[in-house]
Amino acid sequence: MGPKVYISGKLFDKSDAKISVFDHGLLYGDGVFEGIRSYSGWVFRLKAHVDRLYESAQAIHLQIPMSREEMARAIRETLDVNKLSDAYIRVVVTRGAGSLGLDPRKTTDPQVIIITDHISLYPEELYEHGLKVITAGTTRNHPNAVNPRIKSLNYLNNILGKIEATQAGCLEALMLNAQGEIAECTGDNIFVVQRGQIHTPPIDAGILEGITRGAVIELARAAGYAVIERTMHRLDVYTAEECFLTGTAAELIPVVECDGRIIGTGRPGPMTRELRQRFQALVREER
Ligand code: PMP
Repeated sequence: MGPKVYISGKLFDKSDAKISVFDHGLLYGDGVFEGIRSYSGWVFRLKAHVDRLYESAQAIHLQIPMSREEMARAIRETLDVNKLSDAYIRVVVTRGAGSLGLDPRKTTDPQVIIITDHISLYPEELYEHGLKVITAGTTRNHPNAVNPRIKSLNYLNNILGKIEATQAGCLEALMLNAQGEIAECTGDNIFVVQRGQIHTPPIDAGILEGITRGAVIELARAAGYAVIERTMHRLDVYTAEECFLTGTAAELIPVVECDGRIIGTGRPGPMTRELRQRFQALVREER
């Protein structure tokens, strides 16, 4: 029996899990999504992810046709059916099928899709040796256009940044906002360590308010470190003692080079290592 995919209340075999080509999620990227992890069968910060999904939907005027509690239950049930304990969970809510034309009122039946899969992390050696990143020439979406806080199905901005990373032989790219300040990476938030303090761009820089980012800020503060959310520039990364990225899939991964500049010693630093260990303990212990 192969994997089952949840679509709007029913479970389908992977090969039968299909939605309409007239769905505005496909035609216009009109919809929202979440990427969630489970560890030993427990979904990490499920409520935070469900809340963010509903806030994203609210921001694009999309009514999700089930309650937050029903959504959380559907996510847990899909995970159980697929007998996955360490999994990556993708929740997608589309605007639904309709006639051609942008107007969401032309659509009916938003589709709720839940896909669960084995998690594929960055290769282990990158956690030991650190990532190299570049700055993308593509500006991160302006908050007055599509606010990066909305986790929308229109991820082209990030995809363009990712293509630049790949072409430069990197797995991630740093993206700047329209002011030239650091926003985030294509699928991860960024942190640096400077003089023993932890710095990360504020939400106002035009970023996704990462759930992992929030968890890392909490655990760093609980461990007695100062965490400062402030406007940052590339120079702050070039001159940092340490740098790391956070995201649901990546967890917490060190960065050792940016735009050809070696960060710190060129090796993952002690605070990055400590925070990574603390994060790994958190995801296993939090229930
Ligand atoms: N920024 C962007 C643009 C993202 O897509 C993501 C999620 N992959 C993140 C940051 C990290 O957010 P989270 O920790 O909630 O996964």
